[in-house]
Amino acid sequence: MQFKAFEQDIEVNGTTVNAIVDGLGRYKSLAKKYLLGVGIGIEENGELKIEKEGWYSHDSWLKSFEEIAKEIGDATLQIIGMKIPENAIFPSGVKDIDSAIKSIDIAYHLNHRKNGKVLFDINTGKMEEGIGHYGYEKIENRNMIISECMNPYPCAFDFGIIMAMARKFEIKANIAHDDSKPCRKNGADSCTYIITW
Ligand SMILES: [Zn+2]
Repeated sequence: MQFKAFEQDIEVNGTTVNAIVDGLGRYKSLAKKYLLGVGIGIEENGELKIEKEGWYSHDSWLKSFEEIAKEIGDATLQIIGMKIPENAIFPSGVKDIDSAIKSIDIAYHLNHRKNGKVLFDINTGKMEEGIGHYGYEKIENRNMIISECMNPYPCAFDFGIIMAMARKFEIKANIAHDDSKPCRKNGADSCTYIITW
């Protein structure tokens, strides 16, 4: 279900948290309200301060998404998702739409940690469990990728991440939410997106 962490003791890094600040753009007072409201960041001279090198509660971050969803809506969650590729740490070697969509799951684990340990080790390529995944399934002989996203982030936010990553390399890529599959907005654990170009 969206907004509910799969496990406790998970944290997200400050650069990723900054996507909310970026996504809300000139509405700085809203970023301040939604992040300070859940105990993320501090107020300094009237400004919200997020430590880019810091780590913040995943649970709290999800709560701020829940508030944004309730009070502003899905369009804003999608815009915040679209800011993720500019803010979060992504692996190197992303060179086309396939590697871009594939990299989302690695980036996801690179930007979260459990009990103080980052969930992806860039040196060994080892990934730890605890936060779910962003799927990548290439449809043979077609310009089509299916991405099943089984994680606690909201549906519209993931739509935005996938759109931004796909369009980095295929400007006209189309992203569709597969309505025949479960959706986190209805209490399911995953949503499925179809990427075509
Ligand atoms: Zn959905």
